[in-house]
Amino acid sequence: MPQRKPINWLNTSFLLTTPILALIGTVCLAVYGHIHWQTWVLFTIMIFACGFSVTAGYHRLYAHRAYQARWPVQLFYLIFGAATFEGSVLEWCTDHRNHHRYSERDYDKDPYSIEKGFWHAHIGWLIRLDIESRDFSNVEDLKANGLVRWQDKYFVPLAFFMGLIFPTAIAALWGNALGGLIIAGFLRIVMVHHSTFFINSFCHIFGKRTYCKEKTAVDNWVLALLTFGEGYHNFHHRFPIDYRNGVKFYHFDPTKWFIRGLSYVGLTTDLKRVSKEKIERTRQQAAG
Ligand SMILES: [Zn+2]
Ligand SMILES: [Zn+2]
Repeated sequence: MPQRKPINWLNTSFLLTTPILALIGTVCLAVYGHIHWQTWVLFTIMIFACGFSVTAGYHRLYAHRAYQARWPVQLFYLIFGAATFEGSVLEWCTDHRNHHRYSERDYDKDPYSIEKGFWHAHIGWLIRLDIESRDFSNVEDLKANGLVRWQDKYFVPLAFFMGLIFPTAIAALWGNALGGLIIAGFLRIVMVHHSTFFINSFCHIFGKRTYCKEKTAVDNWVLALLTFGEGYHNFHHRFPIDYRNGVKFYHFDPTKWFIRGLSYVGLTTDLKRVSKEKIERTRQQAAG
């Protein structure tokens, strides 16, 4: 019986207190205080800015190098990505690259392996995360990027500033600082956290194995709605280099539209696609 790793109290207390603060705070504000409509607009903008920073930035740009982005776009991803409290790009990508590399080969090396159960893949892995054991040898290419190194070095102050102080200060402009902190801060953090976690849990269990039957990853269009298109996870595990996850034109994948939209104004380049023929051949083999 392998020894269980000790509890990471920093992660555990953060992951436990943020939903409590978000829930109690939102109810109390709605009942005893006031949430301005502008605060809900700010919440929505923060959801999109942080969501795209994770899906288009952390995931498809940095972890998979599925396209290139100019520095203003990278800066946007790095500061709003920090606001999600999901770790720095270097931390997030070393784990994610190990997830892809080992998800079918060596469960102990996949940080959020579904073979260890839904709870472990969703959040349990963070509760027992051993930060010291990360070796970062699979992100040497990212360490060469000065902006990425800067985000890693100043991650904690950046996360607190962009994640909590910034929405509080903006909402103070219309006299709703507390609403900004609770709604655009804590509630938004919890929602972005769990939509990211859903990919590692739900999207390795409930859905279709369209492109590869051997992979645990599945395509789930409902999850795609909640995760800016990341729900087409079987396609993604089969073709991680493709900047799209929802590969058909009618698949709801706002992240691919965002990346492609930026390419029309020259802010993103070198968008990688697997050929239609190869995708179709792979789909038929999996169906056969
Ligand atoms: Zn991935
Ligand atoms: Zn996965």
